[in-house]
Amino acid sequence: MSGSECLSAAGGGVRLGRENGLRPPLAGAAAAFGSCAGFRLPPPEGDGRVFEECGPKLQFYHSLTQYWEICERNLWVLVVGRFPKEHRIGIPEFKYVANMHGDETVGRELLLHLIEHLVTNDGKDVEITNLINSTRIHLMPSMNPDGFEAVVKPDCFYSNGRENSNYYDLNRNFPDAFELNNVSRQPETAAVMEWLKTETFVLSANLHGGALVASYPFDNGVPATGTLYSRSITPDDDVFQYLAHTYASRNPTMKKGDQCKTKMNFPNGITNGYSWYPLKGGMQDYNYIWAQCFEITLELSCCKYPHEEKLPFFWNKNKASLIEYIKQVHLGVKGQVFDQNGNPLPNVIVEVQNRKHICPYRTNKFGEYYLLLLPGSYIINVTVPGHDPYLTNVVIPEKSQNFSALKKDILLPFRVQLDSIPVSNPSCSKIPLYSDLPSQSEATKPSLFLFLVTVFHIFVK
Ligand SMILES: [Zn+2]
Repeated sequence: MSGSECLSAAGGGVRLGRENGLRPPLAGAAAAFGSCAGFRLPPPEGDGRVFEECGPKLQFYHSLTQYWEICERNLWVLVVGRFPKEHRIGIPEFKYVANMHGDETVGRELLLHLIEHLVTNDGKDVEITNLINSTRIHLMPSMNPDGFEAVVKPDCFYSNGRENSNYYDLNRNFPDAFELNNVSRQPETAAVMEWLKTETFVLSANLHGGALVASYPFDNGVPATGTLYSRSITPDDDVFQYLAHTYASRNPTMKKGDQCKTKMNFPNGITNGYSWYPLKGGMQDYNYIWAQCFEITLELSCCKYPHEEKLPFFWNKNKASLIEYIKQVHLGVKGQVFDQNGNPLPNVIVEVQNRKHICPYRTNKFGEYYLLLLPGSYIINVTVPGHDPYLTNVVIPEKSQNFSALKKDILLPFRVQLDSIPVSNPSCSKIPLYSDLPSQSEATKPSLFLFLVTVFHIFVK
């Protein structure tokens, strides 16, 4: 794909506020960060492949290489952590991605506020310091900088800029587990898919606007996932409801349910994605199925592109939720899998009985696994090719630590030849994974609501 297909690629760095600078509330903090001049990300002519350290060494930013190579502009990620440049064993990877719909701007601003809040409170606020000590936090303020810049006239309901510069909706652009999604894969999508392979992301949210609700997977489905009952639920539905509730319950407006006067009632401010309306090719389903990362979709404002003066209001409403949600990356149990000789085993299946994933979750290259679970008793099943499944019990206590999952290394009672473990994941090669089952996203859901949103262009998530 040539650079010309990225229409507004010229000019380089993503503009994170007006005139390539920062919104006023952030400008003050910027001065505190010395060589990086705060978050002026980064020089417009900069090569996105260059990693640069910022200020007090707890943050650094980089851009997604693949997108830079295709479009010669950047999708910026700022990473905050005690060791921001690389994964450390036992420290889970968390991410927030905002502004994949370019006209939905609140999330983009919230992530800038969050960056500022994290780096200015490290060493001062106990909770933030613990969070940074225990978590590696990846923040992408804009997944669709072209769309953001294409908005000529900001509007609460619909403005151009939702799509990328090729007029594709990025939240319909990922592979879909339930039906063939043969749209042209966009540079932003491809870059994010590559990014997901580079880290073992455990928990994530993607930030939108135009409604006020925390929506959890699946967004698409088949009868086997519950679509006959107007929902599509994962084997981890209890965890997803808890995650969505964690966010919504701390946002005083979201938790009230129907606050946007759209006649959609969301009890406690949460919903199953399919129950709201089904969609094909969404990012949250992709994260959960193919990237082993639990992701929910956060709709943060009734107005997609509110006036600048409203931005502090949104930060105040969402600050507690954003921080508490990150802490949930420490739910459940984590550890490494070793063979009899003490070798860590990469790419072996580690799953909980009765909650098998369509595409089984596997250990990373350090032999690590992370399983998000609520308190309770579970059986973990470790599967190594050529051996019987190895079962072990785990009890997640009611009062687990705030900043670490239960740690449980698993020592297998046999030796394993590392080259006997296949690198690829054979059961995940088939796309869509449910292709032999009837699809649902367009065929069912007879709803007048879907018809109306189509007519009036009020798609949100
Ligand atoms: Zn959206």
